[in-house]
Amino acid sequence: MSEFTKSRIRRIPTDWIGAYLHQLIFGSEVLCAYAGRSDTSMHRRQLEQHKRGIYNHLTLFPCDDVRGAFEKECELYHSISDTLLQNERHPGRPVGLSCPWCFSIEPSKEEEK
Ligand SMILES: [Zn+2]
Repeated sequence: MSEFTKSRIRRIPTDWIGAYLHQLIFGSEVLCAYAGRSDTSMHRRQLEQHKRGIYNHLTLFPCDDVRGAFEKECELYHSISDTLLQNERHPGRPVGLSCPWCFSIEPSKEEEK
């Protein structure tokens, strides 16, 4: 876990993909959290998210492929208390994959078209 700052984001390799956790922390208390992933560039995604200015801590989970990123995002999503988690929906499912925790079969974005 590190502070969610622009100088921290600049050090993320542009080709890293994976899952991430954003947290808003004051003192030792976590006030809220958001689980996400990027299948193309975590660097770019963090720059976009940083502009929203909600969270002050970042934890990255670099992954080798889209499956790893999706499964890590699902793990975060299902393991964080509902009272903290700000995600409105279950992580989007890449084509051909299902969540290993709830076996969600929500249609992926591509399959809805
Ligand atoms: Zn799930």
